[in-house]
Amino acid sequence: MRIKVEIDNNSGFCHGVIRAVETAEKNLSPRRNTSSERSTVAGGNKSCPDVRDTAHLYSLGAIVHNGSELERLKTKGLEVIDIEQMKSLHNTSVLIRAHGEPPETYRIAKENNISLIDCTCPVVLQLQKKIRETPGQIVIFGKMGHAEVNGLVGQAEGRTIIVENAGVIAHAEQPTNSGGIRGSRRADACSLRSQPSALNNYPPICNEIDYTKPINIFSQTTKDPGEYEHICAEIKKRMAPGVECTVHNTICRQVAGRHSKLVEFARSHNVIIFVSGKESSNGKVLYDLCKAANPRSYNIQSLKQIDKKWFKNNDTIGICGATSTPKWQLDAASKFLKISLNDYICARFYTLIYGNYRRF
Ligand code: SF4
Repeated sequence: MRIKVEIDNNSGFCHGVIRAVETAEKNLSPRRNTSSERSTVAGGNKSCPDVRDTAHLYSLGAIVHNGSELERLKTKGLEVIDIEQMKSLHNTSVLIRAHGEPPETYRIAKENNISLIDCTCPVVLQLQKKIRETPGQIVIFGKMGHAEVNGLVGQAEGRTIIVENAGVIAHAEQPTNSGGIRGSRRADACSLRSQPSALNNYPPICNEIDYTKPINIFSQTTKDPGEYEHICAEIKKRMAPGVECTVHNTICRQVAGRHSKLVEFARSHNVIIFVSGKESSNGKVLYDLCKAANPRSYNIQSLKQIDKKWFKNNDTIGICGATSTPKWQLDAASKFLKISLNDYICARFYTLIYGNYRRF
């Protein structure tokens, strides 16, 4: 079979994730670090001595939503912990990933003398600040329970309402006992992260947007700009006369710019192989765009999922991924396709030789 393979130049880690992964790797180098060596780390507690003499570092949550990349970093000594585990740690270092954290995490770190290696993306930091400084009712378009959203909600406890999609706003036309709307979720009544299961069963009755009071709308940085626009329009048309509704443009420019380019990329190839972890919210958004632009789009987490039946002779194959997809995974997929579609035996041989293939 003859095929052409091209990797999308706009795919791969965003700046925020690159910065977090590079910082993790730097701190994982097997040497004795000193607090002065980490002086550039924002939010670091310099009074906490770093006693590590081996490569080991805690990361609060997965540094990137990609199982293969996490596995690679794990072999270097990066250990993913959750907030409950962090509460039991003392006198050590913990990395905060690009998604950011709510103020509560910083309080726990201070109490437990934990030195934070703060890799919160500058774009997310700016968004957190904006939300903190905005008075009144705040609506966040984002994924319930997502780390970035948890961090945003924490900036304005008791004033934030999460809207996951436009559908829930329409559903909210049915009045609730409290006179509010269904479908959005007020995040003041429960801790998003400490009780995720409780949150999933959160009764719709407590979810209210009050259209008679001013609203400020923000978006999670990785959301689809078109959907955000739609949600804002839905909210605006329900506002009581004369009441202000302010939309803040908070989708990350690096991500927003990818959408139109990705659609173009998907349309200009016969088949699209989209590489992304299942947990990646950005991956889901981008894959859906590819699928809409090109029905022969396939989302894979591993090379083993690639099915030869997807391809025909003379196909051009485009390989792309999410902001959490490492470049090495795109390269591995490209090499694998070039070889396997021509010679299966050769591909198996290649798989045995190259580490990336085995991990992927
Ligand atoms: S998507 Fe944008 S805002 Fe989010 S971590 Fe990446 S660079 Fe930062």
